[in-house]
Amino acid sequence: MQRAALAWRRAGKRIGFVPTMGYLHDGHMSLVRDARRRVGPDGIVVVSIYVNPTQFAPTEDLSKYPRDLKRDYALCRGEGVDAVFLPSDAVMYPGRAEGRYSTYVQEERLTLGMEGASRPTHFRGVTTIVAKLFNCVLPDVAVFGAKDWQQAAAIRRMTTDLNFPLKIVVAPTRRESDGLAMSSRNAYLSAVDRSQATILSQAIAACRQAVKQSSVPAAELKKAVARLVKTRPAGRLDYVEFFDSDTLEPVTTVKRGSHMALAVFFGKTRLIDNGRL
Ligand code: AMP
Repeated sequence: MQRAALAWRRAGKRIGFVPTMGYLHDGHMSLVRDARRRVGPDGIVVVSIYVNPTQFAPTEDLSKYPRDLKRDYALCRGEGVDAVFLPSDAVMYPGRAEGRYSTYVQEERLTLGMEGASRPTHFRGVTTIVAKLFNCVLPDVAVFGAKDWQQAAAIRRMTTDLNFPLKIVVAPTRRESDGLAMSSRNAYLSAVDRSQATILSQAIAACRQAVKQSSVPAAELKKAVARLVKTRPAGRLDYVEFFDSDTLEPVTTVKRGSHMALAVFFGKTRLIDNGRL
């Protein structure tokens, strides 16, 4: 991958990069289209597909994470992707099985709350793998989804802090027609879960409505979201937070332009969503 990337760069081609864990959907493909627009028809668009073991806790869904490489390739081909990078564990984590792999990248401020609080080892795995993928693909621009808002913020910070010479783009969340954010994990949902999973985007819409005219205490909105999620018996609220969209600092008073994120369990499946109010 590095050899190919160096050759493309020497030939003056711009490289656009979309890192994924596969089981691609239109959310991923919208990032691919964004990358293509940015590098132009003569540029190179690379998609990586790698289910990164270090961002999963031992109790999480690593071995069960959905995979369909044939379909992923077809989608990439259809979208004019130039290269799909499919690294092996042995390439990404040399010696890890024998306990020799020992270098990680950790963002220490933006990753403490929300997803980081619910999944304490998650972001160390994410920043580590993304840094490593950047070193392999050598992109000029990398595109991430707003769906994972905190992840995008951490990666932007890491890119600045570690002087990676590339531009980070955050592209909007793609949704199903009923508002559910597209996600590979939606494949785990039963029919009942699926019908009740719209509660995440509905909670965001309700909060947006609530702060339209005047600000509201965060504690009040959190209670309202908890009540709303309780109306869907299949769902269990993990967290809801209101914060500044750039710094991710929690706000005590929520107003127009504040950001909100929530996570809701449906059985063992944990769905996340977020939005600007
Ligand atoms: P994943 O394969 O879930 O790790 O996601 C790979 C990339 O796609 C990340 O940058 C995600 O934020 C992004 N992504 C996932 N779902 C969506 C969506 N519904 N809309 C836009 N981007 C998404």
